[in-house]
Amino acid sequence: DSVFAHIVRAPEDPILGVTVAYNKDPSPVKLNLGVGAYRTEEGKPLVLNVVRQAEQQLVNDRSRVKEYLPIVGLAEYNKLSAKLILGADSPAIQENRVTTVQCLSGTGSLRVGGEFLARHYHQLTIYIPLPTWGNHPKIFTLAGLSVKTYRYYDPATRGLDFQGLLEDLGSAPSGAIVLLHACAHNPTGVDPTIQQWEQIRQLMRSKALLPFFDSAYQGFASGSLDADAQPVRMFVADGGECLVAQSYAKNMGLYGERVGALSIVCKSADVASRVESQLKLVIRPMYSSPPIHGASIVATILKDRNLYTEWTIELKAMADRIISMRQQLFDALRARGTPGDWSHIIKQIGMFTFTGLNSEQVVFMTREYHIYMTSDGRISMAGLSSRTVPHLADAIHAAVT
Ligand code: PMP
Repeated sequence: DSVFAHIVRAPEDPILGVTVAYNKDPSPVKLNLGVGAYRTEEGKPLVLNVVRQAEQQLVNDRSRVKEYLPIVGLAEYNKLSAKLILGADSPAIQENRVTTVQCLSGTGSLRVGGEFLARHYHQLTIYIPLPTWGNHPKIFTLAGLSVKTYRYYDPATRGLDFQGLLEDLGSAPSGAIVLLHACAHNPTGVDPTIQQWEQIRQLMRSKALLPFFDSAYQGFASGSLDADAQPVRMFVADGGECLVAQSYAKNMGLYGERVGALSIVCKSADVASRVESQLKLVIRPMYSSPPIHGASIVATILKDRNLYTEWTIELKAMADRIISMRQQLFDALRARGTPGDWSHIIKQIGMFTFTGLNSEQVVFMTREYHIYMTSDGRISMAGLSSRTVPHLADAIHAAVT
């Protein structure tokens, strides 16, 4: 008998499992609104033009070899990534007090940051928003932190529970870590206003709470890289410390290349260099060093003025298409006279709409309309097109009436 005979089957991942179910459905009208990956109007995955160009340059460069990268990854990529999120003129970068390490996309950056904090930070409690991306609690628990939640979303208003957020962070123990979505909160699409961010910043700094930003959608929310980075930059501008996990999965469409970065902004260059020495000890036994291809693509684009400009245009086009899908879905529901206030569809931002549909309604839409989404009623707007909006609107209409 197998030595693994006792192993029980694990449940499918709640998000990736949606695609597994979708793939099994033979219906020609089936629609996958589960996973957060951009699709064109034709429903196809998109490789950005600038990514193709950068790859071509890399292939043509015969001096490139396949040697290992250093433990912290590609130096040039790390510098450019810090500049992208913190701003080209960031004093923290100029003062050399930011350490950046290349990691395996956003997930890997969060995990390395979590492991580092669990080993070296004095407060092992991390507060994550309720709700949040389903992987957050698992990443931080396995990293060795103790996970608590703070109120974030108010189902009644389908907006931010700002009072609840302030109360929960206000009663958190001094020094606790707080996970913040830099923009385009997943799954709710609800972000604080800049004024609210300022209040959050003041409260957190007054209690010495440590900000850990998850920046998985820079440029994807508003179409502007700078506007989407503003919350992070407010926290860096006050001279305080923070962590930032970046991902190029969405904004450069590099999902499977697994390109991300963890930056730790410190008080001094000396602290930053000691922090970096310890990050190496976290990374080395995990995967030794990160992969070279995706980071080379990103560095090629970020350092070339023309490619960079072209990227911002392609990025804005993706963001704009998502925003237009929101408007079309909202209009389609209004045209059908679907009961309820659906204005949250156009108020929320980023890749997802948190529809407010409950799990029974989701089951109904999957069974009767072959529409796949997570059971919390989150739909990926990036998976919609003008052609499929009517089908989704019919399904929502039928589900709520
Ligand atoms: N954080 C959030 C909030 C996300 O939505 C995602 C992607 N779904 C990630 C991090 C990480 O994604 P990746 O590891 O593919 O960069």
